[in-house]
Amino acid sequence: MQMNSLYLRQFHEIERDLWRFFALFGDLCGRCARRTLRESTEGQRRGRDQWCCCMIDNQVHDTWELLNPLQCRSDRRWYEKLTPPAMGRMPGNGPCPALGPTGCQIRQLRPITCTTQLCAKMLRVLRRLNLFDGPTDLALQIEDIIVLPAILPALYGQLKGGRVLPDAVAQYRLAIRDYTQRLASVDAPARQAAIDAELPVDA
Ligand code: SF4
Ligand code: SF4
Repeated sequence: MQMNSLYLRQFHEIERDLWRFFALFGDLCGRCARRTLRESTEGQRRGRDQWCCCMIDNQVHDTWELLNPLQCRSDRRWYEKLTPPAMGRMPGNGPCPALGPTGCQIRQLRPITCTTQLCAKMLRVLRRLNLFDGPTDLALQIEDIIVLPAILPALYGQLKGGRVLPDAVAQYRLAIRDYTQRLASVDAPARQAAIDAELPVDA
């Protein structure tokens, strides 16, 4: 695996841009996590593919060979310091050990899938707001809904010898900021209503 400090810094800048975008979904993930816990405790079997992605997925172990050396750059004991969720086995291979009480405990360079994934619930919120017109039954990655240069695997060190020009990074960041601005410019009550329609507050 190749580690290029400049590329990793650029990846982190992009992931922060994306976190600002995802933050506009407000409490959607919190509601989803609470509903998942409730349905799991009740032994519900239907609709489990819609449960909280971090509880039914395990990107830490799925991407371990790439993720561990990256995280060890800043802290060799990063994995021991995680406090994994206190729940039994979930469907899929979850829960992910990086899931903490307030979300993911990995502070930078999260797996690419976690950084770019829009779950079906998020897609439906975007569709209600006329910001997306594609199918909403399965999760997509952000590059599936807006045009972006395919640079993340090279920045993350996943591609041997992958080269990324500064213009491509700038283009990526601009496209994300533009789309974030489109979502942010929706009237806040309308955005909240689209989130509430997906998962009500006490879901
Ligand atoms: S990203 Fe989607 S599936 Fe994952 S916790 Fe948030 S709302 Fe739930
Ligand atoms: S966002 Fe964090 S907790 Fe969720 S699957 Fe990815 S690494 Fe695990």
